Amino acid sequence: MSRQVRIVEVGPRDGLQNEKQTIDTGIKLELIERLAKAGLRDIEAASFVSPKWVPQMADHAAIMAGLPSRETYPDVNYPVLTPNMKGFEAAAAAGAKEVAVFAAASESFSQKNINCSIAESIERFVPVFEAARQQGIRVRGYISCVVACPYEGAVSPEKVAEVAARLLELGSYEISLGDTIGAGTPASVLRMLEAVARKVPVQQLAGHYHDTYGMAVANAYASYQFGLRSFDSSVAGLGGCPYAKGATGNVATEDLVYLFNGLGVETGIDLDALVECSAWISGVLQRAPGSRVSRALLAKSGQGGVCA
Ligand SMILES: [Zn+2]
Repeated sequence: MSRQVRIVEVGPRDGLQNEKQTIDTGIKLELIERLAKAGLRDIEAASFVSPKWVPQMADHAAIMAGLPSRETYPDVNYPVLTPNMKGFEAAAAAGAKEVAVFAAASESFSQKNINCSIAESIERFVPVFEAARQQGIRVRGYISCVVACPYEGAVSPEKVAEVAARLLELGSYEISLGDTIGAGTPASVLRMLEAVARKVPVQQLAGHYHDTYGMAVANAYASYQFGLRSFDSSVAGLGGCPYAKGATGNVATEDLVYLFNGLGVETGIDLDALVECSAWISGVLQRAPGSRVSRALLAKSGQGGVCA
């Protein structure tokens, strides 16, 4: 078994889209560059959703135009979210080489989040997959609420497996399984993974765990033991979910890197540089990093600064 994992940084998108204050394009681009410098090779850069839905992501084209130079960081991918053909066309025109589509495993969440049923949302992606195939653009599929939904409670593992199988069939190279409200535990996450892995090869699954109940690192570890080798996270634990009161951000990238360093599993990420990036963006947002690892390492180096 490989002793390597891929970490997909979602802070600039999944993280910042939940910030109430508008964040300057320059700050977002600096965040992306600092992440690339720390060794992240997959950095979700923007979302090509309508600015009416997510005003924070209205600068998507400017972000794509201002990404770090290919010469300095030749091997970094910058996936972007595309909800439909219109978003896909704009993303492709802006030079995206990888896009992500998103569906939910819960009907109520699908209605609230994207205003349509799960089946309708997947129908909308059919032309996106087709166009992506023609243009050589990779597609990643996201599924939200894979363990629980803020409206329906527990979500059936079979439902997640069904949505995952459909996204695979349409041409997703990987399916990212989102515990959007962070309610999962290793037991419920493993029940879900067992059902999904019957339909989708484990090498094509990624864990996307939010840390609301402090279980995200445990869930990532359980998923690693199960065979997953790809995980989403956000620097400083940025993020949340506007539809689930009290939901916190994604598992912090620093916390995953610390976990995998301890296991002797290669991530390619420089933890010190990442902690520095975490301290910087947390300073911009005027709060302490949402990462226990960053807070511990910053305190140790005397850079605690803000005691929040
Ligand atoms: Zn998320």
